[in-house]
Amino acid sequence: MAECIFCKIAAGQIPARIVHQDDQAVVFEDLNPQAPVHLLIIPRKHFMSLNEAAAEDRDVLGHIHLLAAKVAAMRGISDGFRTVLNNGARAGQTVSHLHLHVLGGRQMTWPPG
Ligand code: AMP
Ligand code: ZN
Repeated sequence: MAECIFCKIAAGQIPARIVHQDDQAVVFEDLNPQAPVHLLIIPRKHFMSLNEAAAEDRDVLGHIHLLAAKVAAMRGISDGFRTVLNNGARAGQTVSHLHLHVLGGRQMTWPPG
């Protein structure tokens, strides 16, 4: 999508601190980290949230979750990390390209608020 900032990161058109990329997904550092480790995992395919996901997106949705564990291991936070996928403005979604947050490196609290 032309005006989507995460599509532009995936296409290499704007800079990001990329930590992993493959044919389906890109992982990069969050610009405003909320924990010592805060990564974002995006599918290369543009869709806004789980509300827009279709059956054909099953594979990439699984892939980004497996990647979460992989990059958590790379960063040494396998003993405790949180994945967050905000769907819609009321859930706090600010960028309209589905993304999975991976947070860790500190004690997480519950409820998330
Ligand atoms: P959400 O609130 O779930 O939509 O999360 C969007 C996240 O994207 C926030 O944590 C932002 O800090 C992060 N973010 C926005 N723009 C960029 C960017 N250009 N590079 C890296 N992270 C970004
Ligand atoms: Zn996009």
